Order: sequence, then structure tokens, then C-alpha cells
Amino acid sequence: MKIFDGHCDVLYKMWEAQQKNETIPSFYSEKESSLRVTMPNMAAAGVAVQACAVYLPQRIRGSRRFTAALEIIDLFYEHIIKDERYIKPIRTAHDLEEVEKGGKKGALLTLEGADALEGSLLNLRILYQLGVRAIGLTWNFRNEAADGVGESNPAGLSQFGKQVVIEANRLGIILDVSHLAEPGFWELAELTRQPFIASHSNCRAVCDHLRNLTDKQIKAVIKAGGVIGVTFVPYFLSAKSKTDITDVLRHIEHLLSLGAEDHLAFGSDFDGIDETMIDLTSQREYTKLREALVKEYGENRVNKWLWGNWKRILTALL
Ligand SMILES: [Zn+2]
Repeated sequence: MKIFDGHCDVLYKMWEAQQKNETIPSFYSEKESSLRVTMPNMAAAGVAVQACAVYLPQRIRGSRRFTAALEIIDLFYEHIIKDERYIKPIRTAHDLEEVEKGGKKGALLTLEGADALEGSLLNLRILYQLGVRAIGLTWNFRNEAADGVGESNPAGLSQFGKQVVIEANRLGIILDVSHLAEPGFWELAELTRQPFIASHSNCRAVCDHLRNLTDKQIKAVIKAGGVIGVTFVPYFLSAKSKTDITDVLRHIEHLLSLGAEDHLAFGSDFDGIDETMIDLTSQREYTKLREALVKEYGENRVNKWLWGNWKRILTALL
């Protein structure tokens, strides 16, 4: 049973080290303790494809943003892809098929926030050419495209944000609504001609956090044919101080009650969080989640959630 993980921030960790002139943590070392997503962990857990986000911290402003995104993409190719015999960038449905059939791993390059575009569709097209295949319009705050969930009086999509949606549809870049404030969510849902995803968000009805989706939003993602990546961020799972796999199961139960059987997936957010769940502390421990899920729901259903649902949307859109 293969695993597809829809979100992690391993590139951000590498880039921060590079910015501080520190040694870039090794994606390939068994001994690398500062990363939760590594090649040895992928191998141990059976993670076949990992989505790697290009995320810019808020301190990066103005005309520094696109260059910073290029630096992060450079790390993707120099430090993660490195040798395509072992791991290849997922750019087409064919790439995904190759990973599914063979022993090769895959990595999907995604953009977390249109900040990096600096308001230019040309930059979006360049990022597409460099392999970016999914885009979230915002992180938590406002940018040229839209407002994130952290804004107090969020507006919807700007004219530029609407153009990004249309151009992403045209190019074959999957739209991601995690972090997007509700007005923008509904405008995007209305405007897009393609299924869209929430790569790393949970259920608001189970855990009342702004980053989680309301039932109405979940139903809209389902109706569009999209995918919701259940995430392992402790405070998106529960208000309790300690969270474990049973909390993940509560979100899954809720999603299933809304009809998400064919839309449920996972987006861990490993390396984007300081705290983790107590029993899912790195990608390596996906095995524990898989065991718990199979016990509860059986292999066929779990196979869809760990692999098949991501595969369906990528195959349709890439
Ligand atoms: Zn995020």
C-alpha cells in the first residue's frame, strides 16, 4: 500500500539553514535528526510521493519574493531530486504512474501562497515550467491575490487572484484552498473549472480552528471532485495539549459522515510544525496510522485515502 502525502515544509527548513549559512540538513542521511521528512523515512514508511511546499516567511517582502522562491526550488532539485533514478519530480500523470509501478519515489512541487508571484502571471508560468503543480493563493495573511484566514476582515479574491485561478486552470496547476479565508474560498469555488484541494486542513466541526474547513466548505470541495488532506498539526486536530491517532480518526469519521469517502487524503505538514502528535512524530510513523486505519476501515478504503484519491485528482489535472 503506497502513501501520498500532500503537504510538508522540508524545503523551508533547508532554505532557513541556507539563509543562516548553516549546513543544509540532509534529505538522504539516516542520521538527520532535524528533518521529519527524509528519503530514509519515506522508504521506511512506504511514502511513495511527498508534496514539498515552497513557502516564504512573512519577513520576505517586495521584489525579494520571487527570487526567494527560486532559491527554494533550487534546493528542491539540488537536495531532494538530486538523482532521478531514485526520486523524480511529479510533473505529469505519467510520472505518477511510473512511481506507482516502479520502485522510484516521487516529489510534487507546490507553492504555498501567491506572495512569490509578486503580482505577475509571468512568474506563475515560470514556476509552472520549473515544476510547480499546485498553488495555494495565500498563507495566513493578505497578498496580491487574496486574504488568508489570519486576516480579521477578510475580502475575497483580487482581480489578480481571479487571473491566477483562470491561468492555473489553463496551465494544469491544482488550486489549493488551505489557508484561504472564506470569502476567497467561495469565489474560487465559483470561478474554477477544475476540482480543487485543501492540501492540509481538518474539520471545523471537530476542532474549532480558523485553519479548518466548515462542513459547508467540505461539501463544496467534495462537490467539485477535490481532495481534503487531513493534517497532523496538533492544534488543528484538537484543543487538547496532547493529540494522537484517535484524534485523526475523529476527523476522518466526520469527513465520512459528510460523504468524503472518495475525497479523503492526508497532508501531514511535517517540518512545518514545531510540535507533533505524540504517536505520529515523523513521516516514518505513517506505518502506525496505516495500521490503525486498516484495522478500522479495511485495506480497500484505506488505500484510497493514502493513495487513490490523490492519484485520481493528479491524473485528471496534470
Ligand atoms: Zn500551511
